[in-house]
Amino acid sequence: MNEKTVPVTYNSIFQLAFADKAIEKDFKTKQIPLITLLFRFALLISIALYSCFYFIVLPTQSVNYQSSFLAIYQVVTLYCVLLFSFSYSKNFQAHQQIYTILSAVIISVGVLLTAYNIPPLASLILQSTGLPITAFFILFGLSWVQAFTLAILYFAASLGVISLLNQAFIDFTFAIFNLFGFFIIASIAGFILEKQKRQTYLAEQHTDRLINDLEQSKIQLHELSIKDSLTELFNRRHFDDVGELKIKEAKRLKSTMHLLMIDIDYFKQYNDHYGHPAGDDVLVIVANTLLKTLRRSTDLVFRVGGEEFAAILLGDASENLKQISQSIHNAIDKLAIEHNKSTIEKHITVSIGLASMNTSTNETFGDLYNKADKALYLAKQSGRNKTSIF
Ligand code: GH3
Ligand code: MG
Ligand code: MG
Repeated sequence: MNEKTVPVTYNSIFQLAFADKAIEKDFKTKQIPLITLLFRFALLISIALYSCFYFIVLPTQSVNYQSSFLAIYQVVTLYCVLLFSFSYSKNFQAHQQIYTILSAVIISVGVLLTAYNIPPLASLILQSTGLPITAFFILFGLSWVQAFTLAILYFAASLGVISLLNQAFIDFTFAIFNLFGFFIIASIAGFILEKQKRQTYLAEQHTDRLINDLEQSKIQLHELSIKDSLTELFNRRHFDDVGELKIKEAKRLKSTMHLLMIDIDYFKQYNDHYGHPAGDDVLVIVANTLLKTLRRSTDLVFRVGGEEFAAILLGDASENLKQISQSIHNAIDKLAIEHNKSTIEKHITVSIGLASMNTSTNETFGDLYNKADKALYLAKQSGRNKTSIF
């Protein structure tokens, strides 16, 4: 199980970044779609607010102001429209941070220039833009440090604009308090929001890992439940399940199926003489030999008992069944595993019982198994190291 340590450490409280660079990169990548969406939304809202100002507030002012704002209005809205379209390109996604900061700066500068160019509305503009600009910093998906820095800069620039206007400072007290308050709240909210996002990301990662581990365990458990641990062939339980399933499938498809029961001859004597561990080695070698010999994709090989194997062959193979079983005898002979206690050969041999499904009767897998087992008994009775067909 791939148990990774959960990275909960941040570089510092001021820079909420995961200490592990790979995790930080993954976090940022996963944030891109949501940030892009919020960014587009923020651009549209910017256009809407600038337009409201242009069409609703500005007509109440003198024509001079209208023309100077028109320039700002055109630059900012054109920029927003262009960036909105550009946000669909891959290049935007790769350098999202730069574009979001640039946009925050351009839209803010637009507001400050407006305030500077329309002195009668300056106080009103500054105090009423505190909230939207604060919200935009958060919507733009800036990190809390970036939002905080921009807020400080915006606040400083607002003070600069106010001092340049040569108006009574008292007129701007409300605007200054308003901006300052919003930016403090924005910084705290940005910090909490970013920390939350990171914690949610960690929790999701953790859940993903747990689900993944669980899936892996499920697969491993299933493998274990259907495989024999010594030979890694399918086990008896799977033989019973699959056999029943395959015979039904063969009936449905009007196809047929064949069953081979393969038993090592005089294996008790082999164990007694060469020892149990040597016997185990033989079982593994015989299992691998069966797998190599029965290599059609539909062939299924099982270890159904101590030294007893089975093979299910699907489809019509009746004309070369003898050939198949003979190739098993040949392959086992070729192994030439010494067996001095065998009375038939001086090496390991197997007996095979072979039966085919009767397609004209409603035969069950149990019936087929009994036929193959009887055939195996016959092979043993008639001298071993041979195949009997039921
Ligand atoms: P036959 O030719 O009639 O099949 O005789 P046999 O000796 O092979 O058959 P029998 O059923 O009398 O003995 C089977 C032997 O298989 C008994 C046991 O020692 C051995 N055996 C069963 N399972 C294992 C195993 O997991 N490992 C090893 N090494 N031997 C096993
Ligand atoms: Mg045997
Ligand atoms: Mg046996």
